[in-house]
Amino acid sequence: MIELPNYYACTGCGETFNFTSRSAYYCFDVEAVSPGTKLSGSKIFAIPVRPAWCKDCSSVCLVENLLPVRSFEDAYGMTKAGKEIEYPFASDHLSAPEAEEIARAYLQWRMRRSHRPRALCCGRVNYQFLDVEQPLLKHEECDFGVVEPRYTFSSYNGPGPGVYSPANLRLYNGEGELIGLLTWRQRGSDVWEVAATEYPATDVE
Ligand SMILES: [Zn+2]
Ligand SMILES: [Zn+2]
Repeated sequence: MIELPNYYACTGCGETFNFTSRSAYYCFDVEAVSPGTKLSGSKIFAIPVRPAWCKDCSSVCLVENLLPVRSFEDAYGMTKAGKEIEYPFASDHLSAPEAEEIARAYLQWRMRRSHRPRALCCGRVNYQFLDVEQPLLKHEECDFGVVEPRYTFSSYNGPGPGVYSPANLRLYNGEGELIGLLTWRQRGSDVWEVAATEYPATDVE
């Protein structure tokens, strides 16, 4: 798994750039969300992501980290052999049969997936990865600085997202199209209420 920085900052002017969201999820077998849709945790799969700069949104964003099918086959093979994997998901907290089932779901999806990796802010592909050596990202109207990652320590203790306030975790279909937001769940439950949403409309394509 790629550890995301807490935020990015410009070495020149100090302007900071935050992720609008730090996590994203697939539902592989739902194309669209209708009113009243509920999804259990077993239908929701964390999207492997890389940090990037979206040139269309002018913001730090997540981009799908889609390795070749071969990587998913390898991961599935590893889970079948009872070994831990880190991609496309971290299996360390799962039992071997659970990990194998999830790895199979990712593999089946990856074999069907056709669209190239999308920026999950807008669904488009005009981005630059930030998790590379010296991304040398310069932002508008700033001649002297480059945008660098910043890491800060933080911890969270509580019932998890979606219990006391809507989590609004973004949910995507298998082609990386935004279809909904995971909003609420009961304390201790992994069944989410889902609100329909989609990418903001753009007039450029
Ligand atoms: Zn700057
Ligand atoms: Zn974007």
